[in-house]
Amino acid sequence: MLTTETDQGIACDGDAIKSEELGRNAPLDPASCSGVWVFSEFRRGALASVSLELLGIGRKLADSRKVSLSAVLIGSETGEAAGQLIGHGADIVYRVDDPSLANFTDDAYGAILTALIREHKPEIVLAGATAIGRSFIPAVANILNTGLTGDCTELSIREEDGALLQTKPAFGGNIMATIVCLHSRPQMSTVRPKVMTPLAFDGNRQGQIIEVTPSAAQLASRVRVLELVVSEQDDVNIQDASIIVAGGRGLDSAQGFTLIHKLADSLGGSVAATRASVDAGWIGYPHQVGQTGKTVAPQLYIACGISGALQHTAGMQSAETIVAINRDKNAPIFGMADYGLVGDLFEIVPKLITRIMEKRKLWGK
Ligand SMILES: Cc1cc2nc3c(=O)[nH]c(=O)nc-3n(C[C@H](O)[C@H](O)[C@H](O)COP(=O)(O)OP(=O)(O)OC[C@H]3O[C@@H](n4cnc5c(N)ncnc54)[C@H](O)[C@@H]3O)c2cc1C
Repeated sequence: MLTTETDQGIACDGDAIKSEELGRNAPLDPASCSGVWVFSEFRRGALASVSLELLGIGRKLADSRKVSLSAVLIGSETGEAAGQLIGHGADIVYRVDDPSLANFTDDAYGAILTALIREHKPEIVLAGATAIGRSFIPAVANILNTGLTGDCTELSIREEDGALLQTKPAFGGNIMATIVCLHSRPQMSTVRPKVMTPLAFDGNRQGQIIEVTPSAAQLASRVRVLELVVSEQDDVNIQDASIIVAGGRGLDSAQGFTLIHKLADSLGGSVAATRASVDAGWIGYPHQVGQTGKTVAPQLYIACGISGALQHTAGMQSAETIVAINRDKNAPIFGMADYGLVGDLFEIVPKLITRIMEKRKLWGK
């Protein structure tokens, strides 16, 4: 474990760069900052699941600091989303709902969030390490002249001084680094989806919804959205799947994935893969699980022909039940599996499919 205490955002050896020269504002005074904030991603008419996960950890941090938890909701026709955020743990929702915010743009969303942070001075701001979060949160941190820890997997409060401990994998996943932002505020982190646990929805929770009207200048984006194209990445939603069948180099070829698809279909699950099989061109990157792929937390994860390298298991270790099929009884994946089948996957998987289909017939499913 490496712990780094930093004056994130304004430190620079030899005074080569001064923050004033970059035209940024002076950082917020830590003494004037209070509260935990979550940027709540809203797209295609729904809240992103990571927003609810962040409220789960945000609630713990806010309770530990004895401060309020707020959500910032930016979009158009956000409907019931503010109520959902309160039911999942928020005390306050800042709602910025305007037709011109229907599509995400870095500059408009960034200007609105930056202005809200300057006005209300939260001590902590969390956002999802999603395409949207990764796109504009670093710019917000930069304008506010504070630091940002990306891709956190653990967050907690240090008892002695109330600082946010931001833990993330570093150096190729070989160590976990804990980063503390000592002097600048807010302390900002992005968090990978499926790492934190959301609170159960409580329809009786009370909270305050504050309507925010953005200025014309904040809404004036330099970006014009001409067309929205849903990428393969968005279609392959392994992060919300409750059953995942994953394949690795043990499949030998792209053809091997036909078997994985059949097993996944028999269980109503989704297909995932290791980086080795993605790099081999057997399946697309949106299916990749791991440090440089997606993090998943299904009820059942069946790993077929996967050795269990750290960089892969970093993305699936939160699965409730892990089944591993591997012909090498010493494969590291067996160290974390709840059930292990030692043998040739090309013999085991077809037998599994046959048994599952028989059972389904028996149960009329
Ligand atoms: C910076 C960095 C980032 C990385 N990010 C990721 C990432 O996000 N995701 C990821 O997955 N990897 C990632 N990797 C790569 C990772 O280190 C491993 O190389 C990779 O996960 C191995 O994939 P694999 O298990 O499919 O292949 P292998 O390690 O080659 O394992 C194949 C397994 O299949 C078994 N096998 C072979 N034939 C059969 C058979 N017929 N029946 C049953 N079992 C069989 C073998 O015994 C073996 O255990 C990263 C590496 C680096 C350096």
